Amino acid sequence: MPGRLNSKHTKIVATIGPASKDPETIRGMIRAGMNVARINFSHGNHELLGNFIDTVRQVAEEEKAVVAILCDIQGPKIRVGKVAGEPLLLSPGDKISLTLDTVPGTDNLISLPHPEFVQDIKAGTMLLLDDGNLQFLVKEVTPRTLHCEVVIGGGLKSNKGVSAPNARLTLSAITDKDKADIEFALGKGADYIAMSFVRSADDIRQLRWLMNFFGKEAAIIAKVEMREALENIEDIIKVCDGVMVARGDLGVETPAEKVPFEQKRIIRLCNRVGKPVITATQMLESMTGNPRPTRAEASDVYNAILDGTDAIMLSAESASGKFPIRAVEVMSNIATIAEDHILESRQGRGFFETGSHVGGLEAISDAIGEATFHISEALKPTAIVTTTLSGYTTRRVARERPRTPILCMTPSRTTYHRMALVWGVIPLLVQEFTTIDEMITITVRAARDAGLVHRGDTLVLIAGVPFGVAGQTNLLKVHRVGESGEI
Ligand code: PEP
Repeated sequence: MPGRLNSKHTKIVATIGPASKDPETIRGMIRAGMNVARINFSHGNHELLGNFIDTVRQVAEEEKAVVAILCDIQGPKIRVGKVAGEPLLLSPGDKISLTLDTVPGTDNLISLPHPEFVQDIKAGTMLLLDDGNLQFLVKEVTPRTLHCEVVIGGGLKSNKGVSAPNARLTLSAITDKDKADIEFALGKGADYIAMSFVRSADDIRQLRWLMNFFGKEAAIIAKVEMREALENIEDIIKVCDGVMVARGDLGVETPAEKVPFEQKRIIRLCNRVGKPVITATQMLESMTGNPRPTRAEASDVYNAILDGTDAIMLSAESASGKFPIRAVEVMSNIATIAEDHILESRQGRGFFETGSHVGGLEAISDAIGEATFHISEALKPTAIVTTTLSGYTTRRVARERPRTPILCMTPSRTTYHRMALVWGVIPLLVQEFTTIDEMITITVRAARDAGLVHRGDTLVLIAGVPFGVAGQTNLLKVHRVGESGEI
């Protein structure tokens, strides 16, 4: 079965790791509602990560489930080197130096092997280490070393992350490790590549260029976790295929108190243009060790869904936690409850929020999408059947958040997998069609054969005609299954 009409609409992205790498755990997670498997290239070598991908694909096929593979590329993450006798306990006022040289990590002299980063740092810059748990003020810069004073102390361990939220960094968006990882991920047929530490639309263009160079393509998810990305968010959304609100690093780059505001703003902007958005990090954090979430976590997942997120993500909870399957189940349960209340939060949304020009192709697509929502509220059809090559028509309908399940009928295997991330969408692979009659016959039969619809059911059919031309949705038909003799 490609999906059930009564399954939840919100998609679940679960990170695969040591706690979830075996086939039976992955099977349990798929059955519990995992739609996208995240492969985190910050941890593990190609052999290990390749095995994760193969296992997910194998089990998804056995389960007849559509599970997209999202490869999350590390990006220019800055980390300190080795700290001897860790943790190194530091108190406010202590002196500590970070050097390009390889040192044993003693006597408050620690390696920071990132020349591009060090060259951008000036005296007076505040450095945040270990997700902001420690803070160092740079007092003096010599050619290979940053001489700092501890402002917020604590225990510093090897390989902890370093960020400089207020510095203008000229780091390359794609490191040599990233290039090798991207080539590997493309070779494994990744559906999505998530790009870390995106700062501008140019970073996304650079990744597209690189994929072109490798002669393979995947959809690009821009991870929004830098202050500069927040400034450039509208341009970034224009060129990427989806966004991840990466709240972990975002909460270091901006005050954690501002993350909820930015989450809502980013989700709203993505919803407007119908691009999928994932809300990530610490959603059910306590479930790494406990079988039940805290009340605050349940509220966080629920509220992200009301904000309009397409997908919610599990990180350590599924990668290294004790209850990976249970964490997916909990997310599914919360999603099902939250989705009953989406309609209330949808009230008051106006027509043409994209600002598309009246009479233009975008405006027609917007109007059809909005009309589909109202018709499905009035007629309560069994399903909305969208036909698409690129996914555009389906995304246009999904952004209206109808209660009715949205079937995505596509002859494109690429689109079929990518749609696993989009809110409310059940993808189905169908043969190509050229006429409207053929489209009706092929899509209705496919839905019937998948056990999703039956003779006499009401469907709302949505398409862009002529078929195969992306970017226009202009046909809406209310159809009773069997009325054209198609089954
Ligand atoms: C994040 O920072 O929230 C995130 C998802 O990125 P990563 O887990 O790769 O640090």
